Amino acid sequence: MQIQDSSSIIKHLRETGQFLALSRSQPDVFKNSITFSLDNGTKVDVLGPGILSFTPRITGGKSIVLSSGIHGNETAPIEICDHYVVDILMEKIALAHRVLFIFGNLPAMDSATRFIDENLNRLFSGAHASAEVNQNSYECSRAKELEHAVSHFYRAEENSEERYHYDLHTAIRPSKNEKFAVYPFLHGKAHSREQLSFLLACGVDTFLLSGSTTTTFSYYSSHQFGAHAFTVELGKVLPFGQNDMSRFSQVRDTLERFICGHTIASKTFKNSDFSIYQVNQVINKTQHDFSLDFSDDLPNFSDFPAGTLLAHETGVEYRTSHDGEAVVFPNANVAIGQRAILTVIPTTLD
Ligand SMILES: [Zn+2]
Repeated sequence: MQIQDSSSIIKHLRETGQFLALSRSQPDVFKNSITFSLDNGTKVDVLGPGILSFTPRITGGKSIVLSSGIHGNETAPIEICDHYVVDILMEKIALAHRVLFIFGNLPAMDSATRFIDENLNRLFSGAHASAEVNQNSYECSRAKELEHAVSHFYRAEENSEERYHYDLHTAIRPSKNEKFAVYPFLHGKAHSREQLSFLLACGVDTFLLSGSTTTTFSYYSSHQFGAHAFTVELGKVLPFGQNDMSRFSQVRDTLERFICGHTIASKTFKNSDFSIYQVNQVINKTQHDFSLDFSDDLPNFSDFPAGTLLAHETGVEYRTSHDGEAVVFPNANVAIGQRAILTVIPTTLD
């Protein structure tokens, strides 16, 4: 089916809710922005392929960004967000707050890969314009587009709104802690216990407190706009249609309650309900022969005694420095100069 003019696009979206499907099959129909309203008064702004925001007639004081598919093969969060968008467009659910949905890497969804040329989640906070990346790549232009969308969305309600950004992912390897979140570096600001409790209600009980600036999407929203922002890992990568959605029911229900303004049963923060880690070592690959000294399918958050050999490359060995030091996101196949392993040690919030 080819649809071209904006009135038939709007009719199609309202009848079927298939914004993501149309963004993937005919991205050009969203080259120019489209605005329309639903019968319940919610304003819909389609800002580009895979990018749309909703503003309910009466807004409840929160501006919420839900992004998925920043890595194209991380399908479960894409399916969850697609479902919300369908239900909102078809008026099966009604929002209480402004919400911006972002489906990140559309071409990589089609090729079932993490990315086409560059890791999109390393290109924010202006990194898409740095000399070290291929600025002509799809991901660089997409990072720039997504920064514009987020900035425009938050700035439209300057000062009056609380800001949130949940960047939803799934991990390449299994994890001892299936659902976990990376809390971006806050430059000395206090971590939000309410946010940890909220994410616990989503089934996320493990947090990694980042100790430095990064070029991830969540750090961008946190640092530039003061948003409560997290990279949330919801489980393991599987192809579209093969996710056991029952494993995601808690996060799906809780996020839906959040955007629709329904009450959420969250517990008061207690350190003992969580596994909280801080970064101990960032190990970058500096040579072609970089190799991991543990098995390829080692789960994230596996821990080791002090002095354990984790990886080596010509002339260098990388070892744990603490008992109980755990590894996260190990990947020997990254480009030279990029992070190959992160190690973490347990901590608590004071
Ligand atoms: Zn990811």
